[in-house]
This record gives sequence, structure tokens and C-alpha cells, in this order.
Amino acid sequence: MNFLEERIVKDGVVKPGNVLKVDSFLNHQMDIHLMDQMGEEFKRRFAHKQINKILTIEASGIAIACAAARYFDVPVVFAKKSKSINLDGEMYVAMVESFTHKNVNQVVVSKKFLSADDKVLIIDDFLANGCALQGLISIVESAGATVEGIGIAVEKGFQIGGRVIRNLGYQLESLAIVDAMDAENGTITFREQ
Ligand code: 5GP
Repeated sequence: MNFLEERIVKDGVVKPGNVLKVDSFLNHQMDIHLMDQMGEEFKRRFAHKQINKILTIEASGIAIACAAARYFDVPVVFAKKSKSINLDGEMYVAMVESFTHKNVNQVVVSKKFLSADDKVLIIDDFLANGCALQGLISIVESAGATVEGIGIAVEKGFQIGGRVIRNLGYQLESLAIVDAMDAENGTITFREQ
């Protein structure tokens, strides 16, 4: 097991409804040393890519994206969840259905911060059905920029997102892939990588 898988086994909690809670170290209370290790590992996996910007989505992706950004030495842009329908043409927009909250959010990125010459690494905390990633990819495409790769902390391999995104041809690197989890006895099975 790698460092993230070990931490998930130690402190992750399997909830009914295929939700893995990692709020004691990843997305509520945050272990900054663990974040830093993840950032370093993303840099290792995407070392061959020319990346000049990291894109994530608020809120839980931001800390991981920032940890990675220190290793790539590039800025982080995060897509904002926006309620306002009043868009002034200055924003790239995508609709994203939330797996955990079951609602649809409009997410926006200012055109000031993403342009055609950007080579983007997308980072997020979880990959489930892939809606968040599809939204981020469509924002990058709207800007005419390039998705150089996608880095995920925890992929739930029993949901369709990973397969869909890999079939689209992207280099998708997930630090932990959960192939099965059981809310009754708390067991988690990781994919060999
Ligand atoms: P997707 O869009 O791939 O269906 O879901 C990804 C988003 O939903 C992530 O940004 C994450 O915030 C949230 N998410 C999905 N599954 C889980 C989960 O099992 N645990 C937690 N904590 N968040 C999840």
C-alpha cells in the first residue's frame, strides 16, 4: 500500500451510499504533510509534461492543488460554484452535478485566468462518476487550452468516472483507487497499481 492508501485504511470511514469519508485528514481537517506528499507524487507522475497551470474545483480540490502547485511551480485556478445566472461573458461556464450533494452547480472560471496557450493539470480530491472532471475539461476546452493530465487523490474504481475519462484518452493518475468498499464492516479494497 502507498502512503495515501495506508492513511485511508487508518482514518477513512465507509458510509452507506458509496461515500468514503476522509474528513479527518483530506477535506475538512487537513494533514498538510500528507498534502505535500501527494503534491510530490503528482509531480513525479507528470514529470514529463509541460504544465503551466493547475485547475481544480472548490472546495476540496484546492488544498491538494496548492500542494501540487508548489512542486510544479505554477499558479492554481479553482472553478467557483456560482449561483448567479447573470453572467457577463467574462466567464467560462460548466454545469456540474454533485455526487455527494445530488444537486447541480454552475461552475465558473474567469477568462482572465485561462487562455489558449495554457497547458493544464486538473486536480481533484475524488473521482466518482466523473461529472466534476467533465465540467473542468469542458472549461479548459472552452478556453482553447490543453489538458495535459488529470491527478486525483481517491478514485472510486467501482463507479464509471475513471473508465470514461481514460477512454477519452487522458492521462489520469489516481493516487488510490478503491475497487470495493463495505459500509457494514468498513473494509476497503484497493486496485493494484
Ligand atoms: P464525480 O463528479 O466524479 O461524480 O464526483 C466527484 C466529486 O464528488 C468530488 O469533487 C468530491 O467532492 C465528491 N465525492 C464523490 N465521491 C465522494 C466520496 O466518496 N467521498 C467524498 N468525501 N467526496 C466524494
